[in-house]
Amino acid sequence: LMAQSDFVEAFIVDLNGVLRGKWLQPGKSKSLFGQGLAIPRSVFLLDIWGNDVMEGGIAQDTGDPDGLCVAVPHTITRMPWAEGNTAQALLTMRETDGSYFYLDPRGVLARVLERYKAAGLTPALGVELEFYLVDNSGHHGGLKIAPRGADESGWRGWQVDAVGLNEIREYEPILREMMATARIQGIEIETLISENGPGQFEVTLKYNTDALRVADNATMFKRSIKEIARKHGLTATFMAKPYGHCAGSGMHVHMSVLDAEGKNIFEATPERGTDRLYHAVGGIINTMPDTMLTLAPHANSYRRFAPGVHAPTYGDWGHDNRMASVRVITSDPSASRVEHRVAGADCNPYLAFASLLGSALLGLETKADPGPESIGTTRSPHAPPLPIAWSGAVERFSTSPAIADIFGADFQRLFTACKRQEISEMRKRISDVEYDAYLKNA
Ligand code: GLU
Ligand code: MG
Ligand code: MG
Repeated sequence: LMAQSDFVEAFIVDLNGVLRGKWLQPGKSKSLFGQGLAIPRSVFLLDIWGNDVMEGGIAQDTGDPDGLCVAVPHTITRMPWAEGNTAQALLTMRETDGSYFYLDPRGVLARVLERYKAAGLTPALGVELEFYLVDNSGHHGGLKIAPRGADESGWRGWQVDAVGLNEIREYEPILREMMATARIQGIEIETLISENGPGQFEVTLKYNTDALRVADNATMFKRSIKEIARKHGLTATFMAKPYGHCAGSGMHVHMSVLDAEGKNIFEATPERGTDRLYHAVGGIINTMPDTMLTLAPHANSYRRFAPGVHAPTYGDWGHDNRMASVRVITSDPSASRVEHRVAGADCNPYLAFASLLGSALLGLETKADPGPESIGTTRSPHAPPLPIAWSGAVERFSTSPAIADIFGADFQRLFTACKRQEISEMRKRISDVEYDAYLKNA
């Protein structure tokens, strides 16, 4: 496939989930299977604007040597949205002995999966991705909702349209192209729905027992819908909360765990899961404040956690309770699972999965207690409030022994350095709202 293409677009996923890469001549793409393609190791450690992380980063200390990157075979596919005949490949960075470079998010997840393997367990994951399709022509960073039926200011106002069919029809050409592209690229989309917000949609990607593949698929799907929307003159955004008065976009993750015989260890009765299910939930909830930075990595992520829009505000759980962080689903015992509802669509799927799987395994190992469940909005008194501020989440992440255990101490230190640089950059930038409020009034 690569040999027959005009060029190959090869890219790696940085800590923020941003794709960074190169165009390669087909001849050069052979290196993706051989000695590897050279990319500076600091590629993972760019802040969200693409600047090298200075304080505590790796570029200055080490001279920023290259790392060698190889292709993930199942991600080598056509790019149907592109002109000409282009192929793409997702890369991972390896050490010379073949092990993952410690800052590669894919490697972080792979190491968590090795622990499951050592325990004789295999996690199965399914993922839901929510996003908005927005018009490029307005203000607010060039974005406004709703290419059709927009009023003067670009707003259709508050609109609740969950699982309606009208919007699917309105956006049909884009959505059809999205589904066709996923098929060509081997990504199984199970369902597509119109979500609450105007121009907001959700797709669910099929359950898989290869968690790396699920993260790859989420990454590739996000990329393709962005490219397809761009072609149609729109922007697809996975920003967690693009509009203050509309629902945010989440990335719900469904998880079960299989034993060595392939049996779901969460399976019990329609009323109750197994003890191990609740231990896993305990691990997830108890570690949730520490892992928050991976589930909500950006300043904007924290706007999503608000009452009344199906986004959690406490680290709690409940049977079939969509108001809780962790919804336990046992109605069909063989498909017993947890739905983790905290991550924003803006997260890096590799890191969010590593948090979820790492903390669930910790819970299984320590027989963690999840405390009482929340019923509807009647919250369990034991449920901790989730960190509501970005900087608080950075501090929790940076000092947590559980994070050092799941991610490695070097990763913990450098991800923290990256986020601290973003916080300090963000502080230097004065927003329009502040000028509106204070320039004349203050
Ligand atoms: N959009 C909600 C969120 O921010 C989730 C809605 C749903 O339950 O699907 O997570
Ligand atoms: Mg949804
Ligand atoms: Mg859901």
